[in-house]
Amino acid sequence: MSTDTSRPLPLLALGAGTDLRTERGVECPGDLPPASDPALVARARAAKERLGDKVFVLGHHYQRDEVIEFADVTGDSFKLAKEAAARPDSPWIVFCGVHFMAESADILTSDAQTVILPDLAAGCSMADMAAIAQVEDCWEQLEEAGIAADTIPVTYMNSSAAIKAFTGRHGGTICTSSNAKTALSWAFSQAGDGQVEGGTGKVLFLPDQHLGRNTWARDLGGSLEDCVVWDPHRPMGGLTLEQLREARMILWRGHCSVHGRFTVEAVEQARREIPGVKVIVHPECRHEVVELADEVGSTEKIIKTIAAAPAGTRWVVGTELNLVQRLGEQFPDQQIAFLEKNVCYCSTMNRIDLPHLVWALESLDSGRVVNPIVVDEQVAHYARVALDQMLALPGETHRD
Ligand code: SF4
Repeated sequence: MSTDTSRPLPLLALGAGTDLRTERGVECPGDLPPASDPALVARARAAKERLGDKVFVLGHHYQRDEVIEFADVTGDSFKLAKEAAARPDSPWIVFCGVHFMAESADILTSDAQTVILPDLAAGCSMADMAAIAQVEDCWEQLEEAGIAADTIPVTYMNSSAAIKAFTGRHGGTICTSSNAKTALSWAFSQAGDGQVEGGTGKVLFLPDQHLGRNTWARDLGGSLEDCVVWDPHRPMGGLTLEQLREARMILWRGHCSVHGRFTVEAVEQARREIPGVKVIVHPECRHEVVELADEVGSTEKIIKTIAAAPAGTRWVVGTELNLVQRLGEQFPDQQIAFLEKNVCYCSTMNRIDLPHLVWALESLDSGRVVNPIVVDEQVAHYARVALDQMLALPGETHRD
């Protein structure tokens, strides 16, 4: 292995391989202002003002307050990518979110726009759990077993562009946490039987096993017995041919390292300690947690549900902490608590901080584009096929 560190390392596309020499993007190739600089807010404001309409800043709901303050629009990943595409006059899109989101924005925006991720180390552990080589390998095994022909891939937005492209190449669709039910129903209608109950059609759901399982069992009324989990680290996913033949949902063994940590005990404790509490969680949570919740939904649904609730409503919320804290500030007439004391911020979302944002904006202001995210053309083409399929789902325009 080479130890030459003089040359900058290229950013590896998510899931495309292993960076043996260093953690991806930990080094910032520039003059990052110190976090202690008291002028950071003023510097960000000034740089943004000087850049004017040339820059459009997107802020995911899970970003820190100090970053959200500078976002021109906030939302979930798909909403943000569409917002960027709807502003072709802004050549620079600064995406305050994680890598797969910036990839999706690059895919959906025009060639004249450049998407910038202020810190390349802002990845997503869930997206990283499905590497393209593993997914191709899985598909090959399903083909050899005579199962792939009856199987449609459905891939969550939280995935690398390469996995989205795989989905497009194999006639599948992307889904969000808002439209996963519609996406699954469509996929089953394509998978051989047109029925949710009975038949042989299958879905390979990538990469979040929890969203797949929750949507199947909770929204479509499917049986948990029809779900199997494909472990990419074991031959045949650790499954027998019989298990695969009988399954309806082949769930990739991936999960969100934040939402996967909420527990049944935390829900029970909240119900014991807060009279009349309502529990609202994201569908990336484990099935047993989702089963106990009063409400389940995407970040946008969580925000809208709380916004619409009467004053005095008591909530515990199972989603990323930055968002929950902000909800507490925005709706002071409601009592809003975080579901789990042992869960912390999404560490990769939190990589985007004010120093990185200032660095990205000031670099643009001096004519230097830093950390551009550029998806390979072939990959982008097939990823767009899968994203377009999502937009073409029956009765579906993207709902937040
Ligand atoms: S919250 Fe979970 S799914 Fe979202 S970026 Fe963090 S690890 Fe990925």
